[in-house]
Amino acid sequence: MSTLRTGGCLCGQVRFTVRGEMRPIIACHCVQCRKATGNFVTATSAPRGAIDITGEVTWFRSSEVARRGFCGTCGSQLFWDGPGVNLSVMAGALDGATGLTLAGHIYCADAPDWYVIADGLPQAPKADDTMTTQVRA
Ligand SMILES: [Zn+2]
Ligand SMILES: [Zn+2]
Repeated sequence: MSTLRTGGCLCGQVRFTVRGEMRPIIACHCVQCRKATGNFVTATSAPRGAIDITGEVTWFRSSEVARRGFCGTCGSQLFWDGPGVNLSVMAGALDGATGLTLAGHIYCADAPDWYVIADGLPQAPKADDTMTTQVRA
C-alpha cells in the first residue's frame, strides 16, 4: 500500500496527485522564491514519474537551470522544476494533513530582514544538496 497525496491551486484549475514517499519539507529563503511568492517557499518533492498533473500549468523560466510552475488563472505557485530526478512541490499546495515535516532552511544568507529563522532546524547559507535532493525511502 503506498501513500497518495493530492493537491492543487487556489481556483482548482490545476490538480495533482503524488504517489509514494515525498521528501521532508525544506524552506527556501532565496530572492527568487521571495519575489515569486511574496514570502519564503516551503517545498517538498517527489520523482517526476510519481506526480500526475491535470489542468494547465504555466511555466516561467526563472533561471538557466530551473522553471517555476503556477496556475495561470489564480497565480498559485505549485512546482519548481530544476536539476535532479525530483520535481519540487510547494508544500502549501497539498491538500489537508500532509504527514510531512519541515526539516531545514536553505539560502538563509538571502533571507529578508523582516523575520527571524528560530526553529532550531539546520540552516544553510546557500543551496544544500543534502537537504534538497534526498527522498526518504
Ligand atoms: Zn488556479
Ligand atoms: Zn528559493
